Amino acid sequence: MDQIKKPLIIANWKMNPVSLKEAKYLFETVRNEVKKIKNKEVEIIFCPPFVWLDGLKSSFGKSAKLKTQIKLGAQNTFWESKGAYTGEISPLMLKYLGCRYVIIGHSERRQYLGETDEVINQKIKTALRCGLKPILCVGEKERKDLETSSGTNQDINLMVGQQLEKNLQDISVAKILDIVIAYEPVWAIGTADPCSSDQAMKAALFIRKVLTNLYRRNIAEQVKILYGGSVTSQIASEYVKGAGMDGLLIGGASLNVSEFVKIIEEVTR
Ligand code: PEP
Repeated sequence: MDQIKKPLIIANWKMNPVSLKEAKYLFETVRNEVKKIKNKEVEIIFCPPFVWLDGLKSSFGKSAKLKTQIKLGAQNTFWESKGAYTGEISPLMLKYLGCRYVIIGHSERRQYLGETDEVINQKIKTALRCGLKPILCVGEKERKDLETSSGTNQDINLMVGQQLEKNLQDISVAKILDIVIAYEPVWAIGTADPCSSDQAMKAALFIRKVLTNLYRRNIAEQVKILYGGSVTSQIASEYVKGAGMDGLLIGGASLNVSEFVKIIEEVTR
């Protein structure tokens, strides 16, 4: 089945900016530019730090059309929905603040916060139960010289395959379509060294193969698979139009209004 999916552009602001004023400026300026883009076939998800979610919710305005195109997401959530967990944020709270999506398993959380595949699996299940759509990040740590004739490098397959199997454990066919997968090779994140669109395409094919084994082919084909890692406006369309990725996860470039708007324009052109 060759189904055209609306591309998804996700802005991961990480631990930026440091004031609500700046967060609103960033959000509202992009929002105003997006209104001018004729092709509405794109969904943009802003994932600010938790503390700015409420302030940005009020920046949406009344346009229902805009709300179908621009949504809020969070960068993380907890694996339980309520209880004595000091400092944690429940997916129910995120839902209440207007979030539709939540990034889970970002490599920075795996690396610096010690998140394991089991924790990520629990977070995905709880987020789904609370009505959020998880954006699951997977990717290999080291750059390998790829392009073997049989497809993506074996090491990548091993790492990404294991992450998918563990992170998606016990997640039903009915739920997998609420999950977005972001292929994010760790070595390409924040390094100005993106992986080639060809490698991203091979990784996406491999991810679909794993999903086919875990679920069914027609289900696997419907799951959105994004690329993330040092994407700029110069190369954004290569991944979506050239390599057929279902969208992009943008870190650094999402903090630069004109660059982020250009990325959206390139993908929708
Ligand atoms: C990310 O943080 O997921 C990311 C892709 O960052 P960057 O675009 O800065 O590489």
